[in-house]
Amino acid sequence: MNAAPPFKRVALIGFGLIGGSIARAAREQGLAEEIVTTARSAKTRARVKELGIAESVVETNAEAVDNADLVILCIPVGACGAVAEEIAPHLKPGAIVSDVGSVKGAVVRDMAPYLPAAVHFVPAHPVAGTEHSGPDSGFAELFINRWCILTPPEGTDAEAIERLRAFWTALGAKVEIMTPDHHDLVLAITSHLPHLIAYTIVGTADELGQVTSSEVMKFSAGGFRDFTRIAASDPIMWRDVFLANKDAVLEMLGTFNEDLSKLTRAIRRGDGEALFEHFTRTRAIRRGIVEIGQDSAAPDFGRPHAHLVKKAE
Ligand code: NAP
Repeated sequence: MNAAPPFKRVALIGFGLIGGSIARAAREQGLAEEIVTTARSAKTRARVKELGIAESVVETNAEAVDNADLVILCIPVGACGAVAEEIAPHLKPGAIVSDVGSVKGAVVRDMAPYLPAAVHFVPAHPVAGTEHSGPDSGFAELFINRWCILTPPEGTDAEAIERLRAFWTALGAKVEIMTPDHHDLVLAITSHLPHLIAYTIVGTADELGQVTSSEVMKFSAGGFRDFTRIAASDPIMWRDVFLANKDAVLEMLGTFNEDLSKLTRAIRRGDGEALFEHFTRTRAIRRGIVEIGQDSAAPDFGRPHAHLVKKAE
């Protein structure tokens, strides 16, 4: 006999890459008797209905959270405070309220004041994504073997934390718990700064007068195209991330600029030894990431390569 799903009613507010992936995976894993969802626009709500991934698609956030045991905000970080205010009077006592925002300090600061004492607030960030967004972009496998970081405020009910941990584990993720501030510092260097660099480099290449944009596209396999994938990420989401994680990003950017100056000096002085030593160190970091299973060892990210046709003998 199949065990009863761990949650009766799961409400997903926002149905893009992350909300859509949670819905697909939770359904496959039987984690909810019912998934109810909503999105800001009628267009997205209509598309979710067509996709048939949730039991019901409702018009308002208040309707979505009504009687839900688990509520997850899957919307841009900058919208979380206003939505928390809106749903607060409609939350069921004992419900777990969570989110998936890429910044945690600001989300906790913006949401917590509105949430009633009778609900359990367990903020979360699945460290998994792609450059795509919208209701069609999600897929059930997104979280497999990826980390999901929980940042529960001190004193949060231990059982609520465990229930959310079990939920993410069932979606395929590995779960770690840390403070919001620590999360924001770690993610500033591992995610936010790399995105800022990609946004910068792609913008710079676009503005270069001496190189035409057709040449930038044509010769992009020299490294540039790997930045363009990151720089194609959703502009609203990333605007909100940099506004919300300003302090940690500025701190990391300061260190980055110092290191960039060192490399600039090495190039200017023809200091090959310094460049070689630096590149050797960074190569080892890439190998370490592959070794712990956070990326594939396949050359060129596993892109398929054409084969030369053998000359007839
Ligand atoms: P997405 O694909 O663009 O979907 C965003 C959803 O939020 C849409 O359903 C959208 O509704 C809704 N929405 C947008 N603005 C809103 C507002 N002001 N009020 C209420 N709803 C609003 O975004 P996503 O990639 O799933 O990202 C959602 C969250 O996940 C963000 O907080 C992001 O930081 C976090 N996250 C993203 C990634 C990633 O790689 N993308 C990874 C981890 C965590 P409409 O479609 O109707 O506009």
